[in-house]
Amino acid sequence: MRRYKAVVGVLLAVIATFLVSCGSGPAAVAPTYTPEKIAQLSNYVGRLESKRDRLPELLNYIEKDNWVNVDNFTHGPLGQLRAELLRLSNQLLPVDQPKAKALSEEILGHLQSLDEASQDRNYGVALSQYREFLGDFDALLDIVPEGARASAEEEETPDVYEMTSTFDEPEAIRAEPEDMVRTPVMLDEDVLQD
Ligand code: ZN
Repeated sequence: MRRYKAVVGVLLAVIATFLVSCGSGPAAVAPTYTPEKIAQLSNYVGRLESKRDRLPELLNYIEKDNWVNVDNFTHGPLGQLRAELLRLSNQLLPVDQPKAKALSEEILGHLQSLDEASQDRNYGVALSQYREFLGDFDALLDIVPEGARASAEEEETPDVYEMTSTFDEPEAIRAEPEDMVRTPVMLDEDVLQD
C-alpha cells in the first residue's frame, strides 16, 4: 500500500510537471488580428457583405411568390455561399472559428430549407427560413473584426428595398443575368477543404 502511494505520488508529480511545461511555452501567446490578417479577411468579408446587401431582393421575390426568381437567386448569387463561408471561417482566429462554423452551418441549413420551400411554393416556410437565414448571416458578420468590414457604416441606414417590397410593383426588380447562372446550393464538403 505504501509502495503504491509512492508510485502514485511520483506519477502525479510527473503529470504536474508536464502540464506546467505545456502551459508556459511560446505557443501560449494568444493570437490577435494583425493588420495583414484584417486586410486578408476584408476580401472575404466584402464578398459576403455584398451578398448581404442584396438579400432584400430575395425577400422581395418571396413576398411576390416569384419562385422562379427565388430559385435563381439561391442558386445564382448565393450559389457559392458554402465555399465563401468556409473560407471566411478558416481565416478567423482559432477562438472565433467554432462559432463562425456553427453559424455557417445554420445559414446553409436555412438556405437549403428555403430552397425546398421554394420548390414546394410554400410561402410561410420560405419566409420564416429567410428570416432565420438573415439573422444567422448578420450574427456571423458580427463576429468579424470591425476593421475588416467595409460597409459597417452603410448598415446603419434603413433598408430601402425592405421598405418598398410591400408595395405592389411586380416589375420593380428583375433578376440580373448573372443570377441565371445555375450552380448547386450544396457543394460537396470535401471539394472545398483547402
Ligand atoms: Zn438558425
